[in-house]
Parts: sequence; C-alpha cells; structure tokens
Amino acid sequence: MSRILVVEDEAHIAEGLQYNLEAEGHHVEVVGDGRSATERLAEGERPLDLVLLDVMLPEMSGFEVARRARAAGNYVPILILTAKDEAEDVVRGLEEGADDYLVKPFELEELLARVRVLLRRRRWDKVAPGEDAPRSEAFGDVSVHFDRFELETPRGTVQLTTREAALLRALIDREGDAVTRGELLEQVWRLKADTRTRVVDSFVSRLRKYIEKDPSRPRHIVSVRGHGYRFVR
Ligand code: CA
Repeated sequence: MSRILVVEDEAHIAEGLQYNLEAEGHHVEVVGDGRSATERLAEGERPLDLVLLDVMLPEMSGFEVARRARAAGNYVPILILTAKDEAEDVVRGLEEGADDYLVKPFELEELLARVRVLLRRRRWDKVAPGEDAPRSEAFGDVSVHFDRFELETPRGTVQLTTREAALLRALIDREGDAVTRGELLEQVWRLKADTRTRVVDSFVSRLRKYIEKDPSRPRHIVSVRGHGYRFVR
C-alpha cells in the first residue's frame, strides 16, 4: 500500500481523487492549501510515496510547495495538476523539480497510469536482490543505480528524482553523441522541442553538482555550443 498526499483546494476534485486512489488500494491524505502541504512534507514520520499537487492553491502555490520540498532534500515523486492551456505552469513546475504533470481536466485512467509509473520508483526499493537485475552504470568516481534512483559519489549518496534519472539515462544511452535540448525536452519531459524553458539546463547543472569533481569544468556532461550536451564516460 502506498501513501499518497493529495494537495487540492477544490473539494470535489480532491474527493474524486481520494475515492479513486483508495479504490486502487492506496492510503490517501488530503490537504487543501500550500502551507499545510509543506508542513506535511516536512514530517519525518509516515513518509509519503507520492504527492499530487495542484498549482493554484490558497496560502502558497504548488510551485512553492515543490521548491521547498526539493530545497529541503525531499525527493518524493511529485505529479503537478495544472489548469488547461497553462503551458508556462507546466514548465515552471518541472523547473521546480516536479516529476510529471497532468493538465485538468484529465482522464481518470491517464491519472492512474501516471501514478503507477511514479510509484514504481518506490516499489523498486522493496524488490529483493535477484528479483530484478540491477541497472547500474559507473564512470569517473561515481556509480548510478537506475533501479533505485541513486547515485553513489565520494561525497555521499544522492537520491535522484525520476526526471534527473531519466535525463542521465538519455545522455548515457547516447554516449559520445551531442544530444539537442529539443530531443531531451521531448524524451525526458514530454514537452515540445521548441518549448522556451531553462529546464534542461537547470537539470544539467543539478546533475553536474552530483557527478562532476569540478562542476564549473564538467568532464562527463559536456556542453556542445549551440546544440546541447554530450555524455563522456
Ligand atoms: Ca486550485
């Protein structure tokens, strides 16, 4: 059973989400404003497996909730729920560290499918050794464990969000090739290649802080001027 926090101020949407997620066998908590969400996320007890986060909330926006959670080192998967045609909201939410997004009104089946994908990350933690082949990569002085979204570095273990892991996977899979920002936006974030956003660059700089000895002179995720990035083992 997974523990899911629904952050939504429209009662009928919150109730619908709670009803359907409970029908899937999850434990669901509901809060209706950003401040309560931040307080719940800061609790060390009863850790959450997933947060469904509305953007327009009383007290504090969903963006701010996501930003504070990440700044506090909480990497719980976050799925943001945005109003229709608010492409800027999607981009902003991803820049603040959300893992995925859905545009309202959404189909229930689509929501449940996204929830399953994001919860798989947590289930992997519970898979016994041998049940699932580890998918690891090593380069320089770090190793990446994609099966449990972890990076081991000389400076300690880093828990990756799903998008950080997906970006690293996309770059490593095309090792040696220059990959464009547009390709990464489509593949990792499901955004159009020409979306105006700094999301790729801000995630690359996060990954560099984790994996590069000197992030200002990167050796593994190299900038290709006017093009994008190239992974070098
Ligand atoms: Ca709202």
